[in-house]
Amino acid sequence: MSNPQHLVVDVPACKGHGLCFFGWPDLFDLDDDGIAVPLLDEVPEGQLDEVRKAIAACPERAIALRPA
Ligand code: SF4
Repeated sequence: MSNPQHLVVDVPACKGHGLCFFGWPDLFDLDDDGIAVPLLDEVPEGQLDEVRKAIAACPERAIALRPA
């Protein structure tokens, strides 16, 4: 059994261009300032691949998985 992973956004690093939100609207919302907000805390095993794609797509490297 793998350790739970949490989806986090580094707010100071996020530049708000919304690539994560438009690509993965089931994983991210944008706040009033356009900063990404994760919609999940603990990521289910079946969504880890999608999260990894979103991490790779963020040009600011502002998205991460963190162990619980
Ligand atoms: S793609 Fe990265 S920098 Fe752009 S809004 Fe999403 S988290 Fe922020």
